[in-house]
Amino acid sequence: MENIRNMMFGTNTLVELDNGKLTPGINLDNAATTPPFKAVVREIEKQLQCYGSIGRGKGQKSEHSTEIYVEGRDIVKDFVGANDDRYTVFYTNSTTDGMNKLASALIESPNDVVLTTRMEHHANDLPWRERAKVVYAEVDALGRLIIDDIERLLIMYGGAIKYVSVTAASNVTGYVNDVHKIAKLAHRYGAKIIVDGAQIVAHRAFSMIGNTPEEDIDFFVFSAHKMYSPFGGGAVVGQAEILNEHIPQFYGGGMVKAVCDNSVVYLPAPDRYEAGSPNYPGVVGMLNAMKILKCIGFDYIKNHEQLLLRKTLKELRKLPGIVLYGDSNHIADRVGIIVFNIKNIHNEIVAEYLANHHAIATRHAAFCAHPYVRRLTKVDDPTPCESPEGMIRISFGIYNDEADVDAFLHAIKALLFCENLQDELRNNMTTDLLLGKPYDRG
Ligand code: PMP
Repeated sequence: MENIRNMMFGTNTLVELDNGKLTPGINLDNAATTPPFKAVVREIEKQLQCYGSIGRGKGQKSEHSTEIYVEGRDIVKDFVGANDDRYTVFYTNSTTDGMNKLASALIESPNDVVLTTRMEHHANDLPWRERAKVVYAEVDALGRLIIDDIERLLIMYGGAIKYVSVTAASNVTGYVNDVHKIAKLAHRYGAKIIVDGAQIVAHRAFSMIGNTPEEDIDFFVFSAHKMYSPFGGGAVVGQAEILNEHIPQFYGGGMVKAVCDNSVVYLPAPDRYEAGSPNYPGVVGMLNAMKILKCIGFDYIKNHEQLLLRKTLKELRKLPGIVLYGDSNHIADRVGIIVFNIKNIHNEIVAEYLANHHAIATRHAAFCAHPYVRRLTKVDDPTPCESPEGMIRISFGIYNDEADVDAFLHAIKALLFCENLQDELRNNMTTDLLLGKPYDRG
């Protein structure tokens, strides 16, 4: 197989260290966003040569672009194993966009009950919280989702829970949830299941179809920028019949059959979920990235990630002062994400040090999953509500290799074993940080 690092765009870009030296950056922040495949950039450029309005024009370019756009829905369905007439695909800008559109369409009253979990990204919590009554399944001491708690709540609400919305993989611990098992439970108690696929699409083969029809996923939502096509874009794959019973609170052109002075006839899904001119480059990039990921193969991707995960955790566990979150012994159900802290050094100091001294990009703080991060770090909800201090996250992409892991471990050891360096970093930080107030974008 071609060296995967060579397939990536921008991985050799030089970044500047604190000492002024220029060096290629090491990206260990792939759970946030991934670099593009070179082929994705090329394909977008190629298709833009023949770019015209989507579904709105009669020119040749418009017809060509419309064909790619419309036929792309089948590529998306195939990617998530939903080759079945029950499902349709509407394109979105991101997972957040998809979840908000779904929630705005599906929720009919503030009394509707939605079950989600304390493991979720805010994108799979707040769109429901703001529109419906939400109940939450808990996580255990190591941060794994307690599936029995989902069943307990489904029973307790006696058929009143309309939707169960759960992540396929956590963006904090990387745990992969058995969403087909959860689907079976949801369906048994009369609910539909929505899966947040943001952290699974680039890491594991995923099929919306389970072993039995009760295990099928009703809605699957994801973003393209986490799968090597960071040009905006994403999709919701969902049950067409249900989507057609609803309409999102997002209106405009392209979603209607006819508009009269006092009445409107809306088109069926997917069009009624896609008001406005679409992000064509985002769609082209996403479709191309899907083809490349399938070509590389998810067996390879999973094994490679597990190797990097195992090696990093094994070394980190030996180091004094490292606090790891989640289960670092049994990692088979984790995608390539590690969260940790260094005792007595604020996570932002560590993240800045990794970037400015070693050109290693990570993420710190609470990863838009505040309730989950509080549970992992064992802190209670504060009054008034403010963000938790959090931790440092490293997350692997398919192009990371053992040399990246070695560079990271070397940098961490240098910090741990050099008290002068620790003092210097602390002295350079702002007063706010020394007081323990993290900067957090959400
Ligand atoms: N869900 C999960 C699990 C995520 O990791 C993210 C992104 N961090 C989102 C939802 C939101 O994705 P986006 O920012 O692309 O809307």
